[in-house]
Amino acid sequence: MEKAYVKVWESCLEIIKDNVSSQSFKTWFEPIKPVKLSSNVLTIQVPSQFFYEWLEEHYITLLKKTIKKELGTEGRLEYSIIMENSHNASKPYTVKIPTTSKKELKNPSVSMPIDLNQNTIRNPFIIPGLKKVNVESQLNQNYSFENLVEGDCNRLARSAGFAVANKPGGTAFNPLLIYGGVGLGKTHLAHAIGIQIKNEFPNKTVLYVSSEKFTQQYIDSVRNNNQNDFIHFYQMIDVLIIDDVQYFAGKEKTQDVFFHIFNHLHQTGKQLVLTADKPPVELQGFEQRLLSRFKWGLAADLQTPGLETRIAILEKKVYADGIDLPKEVIEYLAYSITTNVRELEGALISLLAQSSMNKKAITLELAKQMIDKFVKNTAREVSIDYIQKVVCDYFDLPIELLKSKTRKREVVQARQIAMYFAKSMTKSSLATIGLHCGGKDHATVLHACRTVNNLMDTDKRFKNYIDELNKKISIQ
Ligand code: ADP
Ligand code: MG
Repeated sequence: MEKAYVKVWESCLEIIKDNVSSQSFKTWFEPIKPVKLSSNVLTIQVPSQFFYEWLEEHYITLLKKTIKKELGTEGRLEYSIIMENSHNASKPYTVKIPTTSKKELKNPSVSMPIDLNQNTIRNPFIIPGLKKVNVESQLNQNYSFENLVEGDCNRLARSAGFAVANKPGGTAFNPLLIYGGVGLGKTHLAHAIGIQIKNEFPNKTVLYVSSEKFTQQYIDSVRNNNQNDFIHFYQMIDVLIIDDVQYFAGKEKTQDVFFHIFNHLHQTGKQLVLTADKPPVELQGFEQRLLSRFKWGLAADLQTPGLETRIAILEKKVYADGIDLPKEVIEYLAYSITTNVRELEGALISLLAQSSMNKKAITLELAKQMIDKFVKNTAREVSIDYIQKVVCDYFDLPIELLKSKTRKREVVQARQIAMYFAKSMTKSSLATIGLHCGGKDHATVLHACRTVNNLMDTDKRFKNYIDELNKKISIQ
C-alpha cells in the first residue's frame, strides 16, 4: 500500500505543477522526496541548504497554500536537508527545519548546516612531491558579482553561482553548468564565481580557462610528450572554471582527458563550473559519459534581459564610468537593443565614442542616428515596448495602464493606437501584440487596427496624432 506521505506529496505536486513553469518544476520540485507525515506535519527531503533557501524564498506562498489545501489549516511543512558532503557513501544526514519561522532560521544556530566534513578521508590520489604552485587564476576583476546586475533573466544562475562561490565543492551544484546564448553574461558570471571564491578562500586554487585554451594546452602537451604534467596540473585545481565547453564538440581526445580530470576533481570534492551556449540535452558531438556528468549538478540558464534589467545594466555602466547621460537616451538604448547585453554595451560605447569625436553632447537625436547605423545590419525593427512607450509619453499615460486590462476611454484609444503601430511597424503576430497590450486576443488587435484606420479617415485631429506619433516612432 502506498504510504500516506507519498500520496499527500503527490497531490501537492499536482497543484504545484499547475502553478510553476515546467523548468522550475523540474529543477525545484522533482528532486524533493517526501519522508514522513505525522499529525499534519509533512516532512520533505531537499538536496541542500541552498535548495531549501531557494524554496523558502521563491515558493513559500505556493507551498503554504498547497499544504493548507492538502492537510487543512493546521497543516505544516518540515524540511529535511541532506548534508552537503556527498562523497562518502554514508547515510544522508538530515536536519529538520520547521517552515513557519523564517526569522528563526536566520539564526545561525538553527540554519547553519552541520559540518560533517571533518573526518573526510584524505585524498589517496595526491601525488607525492607535487606541491601546489601558485596558479594564476586568470580572472578578470571587472567581472564581479557586484557588476553583474540581477534580473529575472539571470536570477537562478546568479544565485546558484553565488551559492557555489560560498561553498565550493560543497553544494549539490557540481558541476554548475551555466548556459545561454551569446552575450548574456556566461563568461561574466563564471569569473564572478571565481573572484568571489578567491576573496572568501584565498588559499583555494582557482583557475579560469576557455575551452579553446584547454584544448590547445592539451595538444601541446601531447606534442611535447608531457601529457602527464598537463593532467596533474589540472587535477590539483580546487575550482576549475571552463568557459564555452561546446567547443569540445567532436574533439574526442580532449573530451577523454577532460573526462578523467572531471572525475578526479569531482570525486575529491572540488568544484567545477562550466559554461555552454546550449543546455546539455542539446549539446552535440559529445561522448555520452561526459554529457551525463554535465547533468549531475545544476544546469542554470541565462535569458535575454527584460527592459528593466537592460535599463539597470546601462545605468550601472554609465554610473561606474562617471558619464552623464540623459535618462531618455538610456531608455532609448534599452528599448531599442533587445538582443543581448554585449550589443547593448557596444551601442553605449559607440555612442560615447561618437559624441567625443564630434564634441557633441549626447542627445536623443544623436542616439537615434547612431543606433540606426549600429543596428542596420541586423534588420532591426521597432519593438512593441518602444511603441508603447512613445504612445504613452505622447498621451501622458503610465505604460502600466496601457498594458493593463482597463477599459477607460483614453486608455483604450492609446492602446488601440499602440496596437496599430505594432501591427504596421513590427513583424509581431496579432496574438503577440495582443499579449503585450493588456492580454487581448488577436481579434481585438484586428479590430483596433480597423478602428484606427477609420478614425484617420474621418477625424482630422486624430489623423494628426497618428502622423506625429509616426514621426516619433520611426527612427530615421
Ligand atoms: P557570454 O559569455 O554569455 O557571451 P559575457 O559574459 O561576455 O557573455 O557578457 C557580455 C558583456 O555583457 C560583458 O561585458 C558583461 O560584463 C556584460 N553583462 C552581461 N550580463 C550582465 C549583467 N547582468 N549585468 C551587467 N553586465 C552584464
Ligand atoms: Mg563568453
